Amino acid sequence: MSDDVVTRFAPSPTGYLHIGGARTALFNWLYARGRGGKFLLRIEDTDRARSTPEATAAILQGLAWLGLDHDGEVVSQFERAPRHAEVALELLAQGKAYKCFATQEEIEAFRAAAKAEGKSTLFRSPWRDAEASAHPDAPHVIRIKAPLEGKTVIRDEVQGDVTIGNDQLDDMVLLRSDGSPVYMLAVVVDDHDMGVTHVIRGDDHLNNAARQMMIYDAMGWDVPVWAHIPLIHGADGKKLSKRHGALGAQEYQVMGYPAAGMRNYLSRLGWSHGDDEFFTDAQALEWFDLGGIGKSPARFDTKKLENLSGQHIAASDDAALQRELVAFLEAAGLPALTEAQDAALLKAMPFLKERAKTFPELIDKAQFALTSRPVQVDEKAAKALDVENRTLLAQLTPHLQNDSWDRDSLEAKLNDFAERHDTKFGKLAAPLRAALAGRAVTPSVFDMMLVLGPEESLARITDVAT
Ligand code: GLU
Repeated sequence: MSDDVVTRFAPSPTGYLHIGGARTALFNWLYARGRGGKFLLRIEDTDRARSTPEATAAILQGLAWLGLDHDGEVVSQFERAPRHAEVALELLAQGKAYKCFATQEEIEAFRAAAKAEGKSTLFRSPWRDAEASAHPDAPHVIRIKAPLEGKTVIRDEVQGDVTIGNDQLDDMVLLRSDGSPVYMLAVVVDDHDMGVTHVIRGDDHLNNAARQMMIYDAMGWDVPVWAHIPLIHGADGKKLSKRHGALGAQEYQVMGYPAAGMRNYLSRLGWSHGDDEFFTDAQALEWFDLGGIGKSPARFDTKKLENLSGQHIAASDDAALQRELVAFLEAAGLPALTEAQDAALLKAMPFLKERAKTFPELIDKAQFALTSRPVQVDEKAAKALDVENRTLLAQLTPHLQNDSWDRDSLEAKLNDFAERHDTKFGKLAAPLRAALAGRAVTPSVFDMMLVLGPEESLARITDVAT
């Protein structure tokens, strides 16, 4: 395995980190980290009007939540503009680019005429072969000399060989008349200078690849391995959009999905390893390869995400899960846990985590442990606290005192008590749930009693017993 793989994630900071971007970042991260390579981060902030520091911060936060750490400093594309211009000037000096003095009106007139004649409207500049001596002292752009004949083949690891006739390529502008570099030049120069060996990105950039290859070829630089991944679709098969629900990766943190579950799910969006659905990071790092990326768009499926999320919650270490849950509460703007709640939750974690698909579900199930006396009894649970049942609870309490507080003895005690009162444990469970949690639907009575301990359990039962 090569240890010099370098990948990058290159988001434009015009909004939050969306699901598609998060998936792209994850694929690049998995590919590099699984091969002992480097995963770099470049913020493509050349569009000054649309790029904001808030968006950059949101992207960094999203990546941090997903645990997609990058190597080295974050690169700002905008700050590298002088270097991009330098490359354009180098191509100019080598005769691989030229100064074009055509005005916007001239270009439009050219296109209109070409259209009228039924010819290609790609602009062919009259300045391509002009002698420097013929150059006016006027504003100009710098254009690359696109190949006039033949074809460009993008060898793509996902799409296969994609061939584009060079007659489709125009003499792309490299430097605008104000001397600012265009985006297409910036990407190539940055990828080259950053030593990027593999470009894994959305297939909406496939067309750009052909144009970017012109620059690689002109500079004599090695072309990276390309892997253009199909975009993500909604469950209805249409391109993922706001109407399909949340689009921001961090919205999923706020909804209470654990990062490991999210990583697992995102990795399965367009990539597969046999029939494996649930897997760990270590497995994903070992298995991830470009060959496993499919050619057709993956569909976002919330049910699958929930399912994987639940499996990851169940498989997590208790303390780590608790830390993630605390971060979830903060991200969701919910009240932080008190010290007592923190301790109770950690105690309840081993069985709570088996049954929750998301953190809100886990917290809901943990309600009995998070609440304190007097326990608020909801309407449904109150029905189980009629006089008959409250009397039953009053009779039960002496049997629970001075007894060993473990599952087996509690089970034996309660069953024995039920039998002696001519009833079933099931009948006893409803008032006990109401007493311990104030609810009709709760975790198992024994689980709750074990977490709460004898003192608190007896106090709660006594509170409602007659
Ligand atoms: N900045 C581009 C985007 O956010 C990515 C460009 C690239 O990966 O080459 O879509």
